[in-house]
Amino acid sequence: MNATPEPRIVACSHCGHKNRVPASAQGSPRCGHCHQALTWVVDADDDTFAEVAERATVPVLVDLWAPWCGPCRMVSPELEKLAAEKAGRLKLVKVNSDDAPRLSQRFQVQAIPTLLVMRDGKVLANQVGAAPARVLRTWLDQALAGEPAAAQRGQP
Ligand SMILES: [Zn+2]
Repeated sequence: MNATPEPRIVACSHCGHKNRVPASAQGSPRCGHCHQALTWVVDADDDTFAEVAERATVPVLVDLWAPWCGPCRMVSPELEKLAAEKAGRLKLVKVNSDDAPRLSQRFQVQAIPTLLVMRDGKVLANQVGAAPARVLRTWLDQALAGEPAAAQRGQP
């Protein structure tokens, strides 16, 4: 089954209007009422990743996490803040690695969280393990700016 991911309802942070936001689309979603960019956070798995992440026309931050992973629960809210700050310029794709064995193998996930920055289906940077919010922000900004960011290894 190659299910089309369900749209999410996202309240606009500017006017409160509730929008149906698709999991995949050209460009990035805007509020139907005030036309400000909406925060784009989408779940993906082995079947939907290509459509949701690799074909996205904005840069993608991939969060490979698992429900039992404590550090993931600390990092995920920080990533959602970054996605909100960069609304219209970044898509956050969350992958439950327990449900995505093929992606876990493809990206050689040995520890979670594993974070990837992708553009046009290519991995620009990766970060293994949790890191403080300011480190994640710098890492993300460097990756988006196209600076060569070496693979980093945080606390396991
Ligand atoms: Zn709005």
